[in-house]
Amino acid sequence: MLDLKMYIDGEWRDSLTKEKRDILNPATGEIIAQAAEGNAQDARLAIAVARTTFDSGVWSELSAVERASYLFKIADHLEERQEELKLLETMDNGKPHREAGFDVSDAAACFRYYAGLITKPDGQTYAVPGPMQSMVIHEPVGVCGLIVPWNYPLLMSVWKIAPALAAGNTIVFKPSEVTPVTSVKLFEIIEEVGIPKGVANLVMGSGATVGQEISTSHLVDKISFTGGTKTGREIMKAAAGNIKNISLELGGKSPNVIFADADFETAVDYALFGIFCGTGQVCAAGSRILVEESIYEAFLTRFAERAENIRVGSGDDPRTEMGPLVSKAHMEKVLDYIEIGKREGARLVCGGYRMTGNGLDQGYFVAPTVFTDVTSDMRIVREEIFGPVVTIQSFKNEQDAIALANDTVYGLAGAVFTTDGAKALRVIKKIRAGITWINAYHPTFNEAPWGGYKQSGIGRGLGTHGLEEFQEVKQININLQVEPTGWFEN
Ligand code: NAD
Repeated sequence: MLDLKMYIDGEWRDSLTKEKRDILNPATGEIIAQAAEGNAQDARLAIAVARTTFDSGVWSELSAVERASYLFKIADHLEERQEELKLLETMDNGKPHREAGFDVSDAAACFRYYAGLITKPDGQTYAVPGPMQSMVIHEPVGVCGLIVPWNYPLLMSVWKIAPALAAGNTIVFKPSEVTPVTSVKLFEIIEEVGIPKGVANLVMGSGATVGQEISTSHLVDKISFTGGTKTGREIMKAAAGNIKNISLELGGKSPNVIFADADFETAVDYALFGIFCGTGQVCAAGSRILVEESIYEAFLTRFAERAENIRVGSGDDPRTEMGPLVSKAHMEKVLDYIEIGKREGARLVCGGYRMTGNGLDQGYFVAPTVFTDVTSDMRIVREEIFGPVVTIQSFKNEQDAIALANDTVYGLAGAVFTTDGAKALRVIKKIRAGITWINAYHPTFNEAPWGGYKQSGIGRGLGTHGLEEFQEVKQININLQVEPTGWFEN
């Protein structure tokens, strides 16, 4: 069994109370680790260290090339430990090996992306009036609190840690209390490559204690949070005290719009991938499929037939195509939504139950679930379920499709399938969402900004935007004629 400790000021520590939390394998219900359960006091300690370390300049004043060299080494170590990390991610989160392996490669690539980016040309100069030269430079924000969810334990950590460190900040990082394993391994790597102590600090524990302290503390300059919209709202309130710089990557209920002229099998295939990849526990999941009336019946039949054939099982079985939900509590929430859907009068086409037998009894498996005959006011259409549950609705025409797609408080992602290029772009431009695809669903790139409109968040991760989220902007105005102004006579 793994013994997971926190990493504060370059030391591995238990929490001050010595409390531990059991970490379970969602495929078997077995305890795989015990994690130090921190509280507000542990968080305060880590925050104080991050503050002193930032103010010392030991990291922020290194050259970009020096900081980048550490990040490149982290990427190398991630790759060297890819197999171990993949197995641990599957044990902790439940995702199939092929998904976990991809996450580890992507995490290494993300470190390399920001290591490269931080050494590239930066800033601006302005031709301003008078004998002045004006320029703009970027500086680190300071102490950054980074709080992440459980659905991509390693990758979500890296999306924040890589740009935050590249920019010269110090960090207090909190993984999800449900899935801390691979982030502890990442901090082992951070130690191995020799990042100065106090720069990167890891505190484990609940959102209500550790997360709340990080969000509230006046010693923290920035919060970068990924998680649910409800939590995002609480963090905004907590962060108001010292007007923290905040970035929020929140939930979604994303539309996947399929026109009759789409390549049919491609659309079905990506629609399945859009909702059932990650067992539907993906913020950008295509959880509302909208299909043009004339192909609706054919689409529904083919989609349900393929959904029923998805091989659900433990993530360490190479044949598994979809793993369990992350925890018992989350499985119960998803099963509740299925009951709500039935009560609301939606038609259950397939799935809708916990899967047992064939070695699945102790795990948290829910069958791929398809609802249709839904209306836009139903909770299963409006609320983020975050599981393998999709609704399929039909639309009459382009305007109708756009109206349905945008009928949500969220605005994270969306896709359009059609062979008409002009229509594809017309519709995608009307969808109020930050991440979109045409004739595809889910490809995500370290180079491109990630984030949502409306209640899906504030700011963007990844790409150049993702670095700027961890930087302040400073204008420097230089007088080229050093003499008194003569504004006041005496
Ligand atoms: P969550 O909001 O419950 O928890 C996320 C993190 O916030 C955890 O570390 C948790 O401990 C912490 N937290 C909880 N309450 C807190 C508080 N009051 N103050 C500070 N921190 C607190 O989310 P989850 O259940 O772990 O993850 C699922 C959610 O994450 C979904 O809504 C999903 O859409 C969202 N998500 C969004 C993105 C994105 O990029 N937009 C990516 C992944 C997941």
